[in-house]
Amino acid sequence: MAESGLHLKNLNWRDFGKTVPEKTDTVFLPVGTIEAHGVVPLGTDIFIPEYLCDELAPRFDGIIAPAVNYGVTRTLIAYPGSHTVTSATFEAYLTEILTGFGQSGFRKAVVMNGHGGHIGELKSAARAAYDETGLFSLVLHWWDMVPDAAKEVYGAEGGHAAAEETAGILAVYPELVRTEYMEETAAYVRGPGVSPYPVPASILVESDESALPDPDVAKAKEYMKRVTEVCAETIKTVFDGWKKELGR
Ligand SMILES: [Zn+2]
Repeated sequence: MAESGLHLKNLNWRDFGKTVPEKTDTVFLPVGTIEAHGVVPLGTDIFIPEYLCDELAPRFDGIIAPAVNYGVTRTLIAYPGSHTVTSATFEAYLTEILTGFGQSGFRKAVVMNGHGGHIGELKSAARAAYDETGLFSLVLHWWDMVPDAAKEVYGAEGGHAAAEETAGILAVYPELVRTEYMEETAAYVRGPGVSPYPVPASILVESDESALPDPDVAKAKEYMKRVTEVCAETIKTVFDGWKKELGR
């Protein structure tokens, strides 16, 4: 699928200078990692935030920055192709990226995160960039925001590389979903008090009733539509609050 929306990497510097911050002061940053994901690609945590930023940025006059592709991968690092950088490196890199946005004239950043292994680092980076440049940041961990969407479309919440993330790829890049692996790909039910390292499957769920990968493209599109709408409402609520209470 071709990218949509206004992308930072496509802009000429003169046009950027005429646009930021006068016409728009908002940047969207997709953040992911390279990690094993059941029947979907190693880049799943990048593809989904990129898609959401392409859908959401135009609604808020935002410019879409190139994604941060490398993140902190922990539990699934043993799986072929999974890749990590250290927590300190990631946090410093994200801090400098966000600080740079503040120095470029952006006043608001939406960080769309696709991966659970570096949530603390992202929050710290957002705080540091605010301290340095006054940049307001909204860090979103999309999958955590939408439990109802999975229940409504799939009958239950899924988990890592389960119904939700498989839907995210199926809706946008169906050719990258390896449905032929569905049969042989196990899901591991995470139980309280049990911490295997590495984990014994790349699909991780909370119970036997959790929603597993589903090859239905129509359901996937419906699910992602709901995710997009919830994210849009959340961004609007936060932006409205910033405007009303803090004048930005
Ligand atoms: Zn993921």
